[in-house]
Amino acid sequence: MDLWAIKGNSNHRTTKNKIQMQRRWSEVGLVILGVLLHSSYMLSIFDIYFKTPIVHGMNPEPLGIRAPAKRLVLFIADGMRADKFFEMDTTGKPRAPYLHNIMHNKGRWGVSHARPPTESRPGHVAIIAGLYEDPSAVTKGWKANPVEFDSVFNRSRHTVAFGSPDIVPIFCGGLSNTHWKSYSHEFEDFATDASFLDDWAFDRFGEFLNESRHNMTLAEQIDGDGLIVFLHLLGCDTNGHAHRPYSDIYLNNINLVDRGVKSTVKVMEEYFPDGQTSYIFTADHGMSNKGSHGDGDPANTETPLVAWGAGVRGPGLASPEDDVDDGLRFVDQHTHHEKTPASWGLRNVERTDVNQGDIAPLMSTLLGLPCPLNSVGTLPVEFLALDQEEQAQAMFANAKQVLDQFLRKSQLKQATSLFFKPFGPLIGYKATLVHITNLIAVGQFVLALQSAQDLISLALDGLHYFQTYDWLFLMSTITVGYLGWMLYILLHVLQSYTTFPFFHRKRGLRRSYNSQPGKAVRFAGGVLMGISSLLLIVEQSPPLYHLYLGLAVFFWTEILTDISLLQSIGLAIRSAKLSWLSKAIFACLISFLVLELLVASFFWREVYTGVFLVAGVVGAVVVSCNTPDVSMVPAFVWAACWFMSGFTLMPAQIPDNTSLVVGSGIVVVLLAIIGRWLDCMPSSKPALQRVVCGPSRKSDKSKWLFLIQVMLVLAASAMVWITTSHRTQKKGLPILHQFINWSLAGVSVLLPLKSPRGMLARLISIFLGFAPLFLLLSIGYEALFFSALAMVLFSWVLVESAVCNSIVQGGSTSSPKWEKLNANFLPEPTGLKSSRVAVFSIELLDTRIALCFLVLINVAFFGTGNMASVASFEISSVYRFITIFNPYIMGALLLCKLFVPFILVTCAFSAVTRVLELPRLGCYFIVLLLSDVMTIHFFFLVKNIGSWMDIGQSISHFGIMSAQIVFVLLLFALSSVFTYDFDIMSLQQPAASPALHTTSGHKYK
Ligand SMILES: [Zn+2]
Ligand SMILES: [Zn+2]
Repeated sequence: MDLWAIKGNSNHRTTKNKIQMQRRWSEVGLVILGVLLHSSYMLSIFDIYFKTPIVHGMNPEPLGIRAPAKRLVLFIADGMRADKFFEMDTTGKPRAPYLHNIMHNKGRWGVSHARPPTESRPGHVAIIAGLYEDPSAVTKGWKANPVEFDSVFNRSRHTVAFGSPDIVPIFCGGLSNTHWKSYSHEFEDFATDASFLDDWAFDRFGEFLNESRHNMTLAEQIDGDGLIVFLHLLGCDTNGHAHRPYSDIYLNNINLVDRGVKSTVKVMEEYFPDGQTSYIFTADHGMSNKGSHGDGDPANTETPLVAWGAGVRGPGLASPEDDVDDGLRFVDQHTHHEKTPASWGLRNVERTDVNQGDIAPLMSTLLGLPCPLNSVGTLPVEFLALDQEEQAQAMFANAKQVLDQFLRKSQLKQATSLFFKPFGPLIGYKATLVHITNLIAVGQFVLALQSAQDLISLALDGLHYFQTYDWLFLMSTITVGYLGWMLYILLHVLQSYTTFPFFHRKRGLRRSYNSQPGKAVRFAGGVLMGISSLLLIVEQSPPLYHLYLGLAVFFWTEILTDISLLQSIGLAIRSAKLSWLSKAIFACLISFLVLELLVASFFWREVYTGVFLVAGVVGAVVVSCNTPDVSMVPAFVWAACWFMSGFTLMPAQIPDNTSLVVGSGIVVVLLAIIGRWLDCMPSSKPALQRVVCGPSRKSDKSKWLFLIQVMLVLAASAMVWITTSHRTQKKGLPILHQFINWSLAGVSVLLPLKSPRGMLARLISIFLGFAPLFLLLSIGYEALFFSALAMVLFSWVLVESAVCNSIVQGGSTSSPKWEKLNANFLPEPTGLKSSRVAVFSIELLDTRIALCFLVLINVAFFGTGNMASVASFEISSVYRFITIFNPYIMGALLLCKLFVPFILVTCAFSAVTRVLELPRLGCYFIVLLLSDVMTIHFFFLVKNIGSWMDIGQSISHFGIMSAQIVFVLLLFALSSVFTYDFDIMSLQQPAASPALHTTSGHKYK
């Protein structure tokens, strides 16, 4: 049926072609703009969440007191968790007897709280430089320092360091005042006891001291003030990863470290008998029971801290108030004054917990050096043997150093901001500084100390204020930009793919770009963009800011340009019937709910179990209501969905199960035979009517093709069995087997192209065609998932086909069922009788197709794993194709394995759009519109604190959603190779004459 013909336009064909060409080009432009928007907004997270907090240009703040110690030895036991270090062993003796003795009799102790990510680099940066991980390090894979920062080692006169090649060079690599050595990476062999790495550091330092007795250069370097010795002890970390932290190897390693510390102290005291050495023992992070670290688990964030020697206060008696919660939190969110476990045997000794970053000012103060410039630590005065005046002075210096950073940041911001808003609480900072100086001058040291501490916390708040200064602007710009894009697509779909324009707009008003109001809006948009760009240039904003803002302004200008369209939409909604309104609101709510479920499924894939349990029942009910005469179809739909619901409960790390893979091959063949049998039946069943070819249209060729495909699947199953048994017998994989596997997978993927064009026949052929590739790449239950997914997809086609058939069978468009289903995207004006005017139009209810597609595309991924299981992929899943390590081929194969389910889903989607005669491109835009609801949600879920895994995952979630626009288009292109020539009966054709034709192929290009 042709709309223009109804309207009586004689030269409608040329007009129509012209409009179609116009639309095609505007859609190409739209997709390009969408890609631009998504890629630039993807980058915005680096301006928002991952901006370096480090500033330069401050001056070191002199301490103002005498140096309590001449030199300092820093022991960092990598991966030593607090409880294993402090607690008694099974015999009731301390694991670290020497250090326990010190805590009881000589020095101070506490728990040092690390902030996630609890990894080695951030931990060491916190201890040595006093700053928490620079989030912009994410762009460099956390390896190198993207921005140079100051450290205690920089400030020292000389630093001697021994330890791991991953840590020591970070701090000593570029410094001239250091003497350092690290072992080669091969030393870190996980299989053996790694405690020799600790011995290595202790021994090298011992040798170094011995050598400097004879070597004048070395002796000069280490004589005098401001010397730091840093021993990095990697044993516990390596042993914890390899053997878990409750293993004997790990626990013995603690004892070994204790002995090493004891002997090092002995040689130090022999070499420097002046008693001017202070010692600090701590760890960069802990170790979880699973033998990993990174997240905010207490086992990871709580590390030991012991300090003793020159300038360090002696132990005190613990008072009961220590256990009272004062509401304060450490950087790892733990409360201050946590109760010491009795098993530690330290209940009666005063405990002082610190933030990991506080150790840097502690070390600086012990050596009488200025704090590292970028440090955000607060001096833990309880550790220092200073009088009250010295304490106040030291804290005041610390406060000025943190304040300097704040002032520098404020200054930098003010220099470029046109509308600078200063940080309120610190506007009068000068008066505070004078006040503290006066307090010290008049001997009010306790008050001065308190005021300096308050000043530090205010300055830290101020630093956070400037770190997030642009957030409101950036986040709102980006949200507004996304919303503009979504609305723009919605308007495009309304205009190009729904019946709306025909009812509501006179043809003369098709585009009001060139109308007066349209021009005015464009002009205003241009002016707005110009002004804002100018402002951004004056503020010296990063170049990408222009793009963020420009895209947002562009889309909103484009939306407002077509005022007549907006007016007619407004009119339509205002004059809408209540029934339409309620339907529209209901559809929005359901869509939103489903999309939020999809967001949740990124964190808990079990969500799909619930979704498919419900979908099975709903699908079965829908089919049986629409086609009461088929009892088998509802049962099949129900069974398929419930079968699928089990997979998301299976472990994400797929356990090996070869017999299951082989069995899955047989399941594939059985399903294909059932499908073939259905396809050959005379199509009497309404649900199947439009998808089967029927016996009359079967050729011999198709019979042979089917047989060949079945044989290929069976051969692939056999090859799975053979290659696995070869591997278990450690015989390797003969080149012949590899060749057979490659050719099986390659040939079978191409065969569906030669299959009959009937819908069911083609779908079965695609299913069989991808099976060998998928089976050969499978190691366990995911092989069965392939069949389950195919069953669900076929159910989807069946349900849609049943619904569609019942509509057509209903005959007259005024049948109650048709009325019930036909809710246009926008309400129709009264007076115009609704008929399915444009068969190829999208209606409100058709958004369900896009929703189903999104659910299925996601389950195609989450059905067999999650983000983590993809990142840590099983190499064994590619060994049937390649045995030597080659990251590119292996990566490509794994990508193939991921893509196969996606292609199945997209083929089914093509089939559904053909059954319902919907324009695929229109549906693609609706898919984009819906998926951007998720994109916005993930944009706000991006994290910059937490374990590396959490951070990385939050970025990849957002990245995946941003890439959807390209990814889905790519899938459409790939699957249309197989589905573009689907042969299906038109909706207009009477069911009795299944004549061959290709309905309006042009709609699907
Ligand atoms: Zn570490
Ligand atoms: Zn580690």
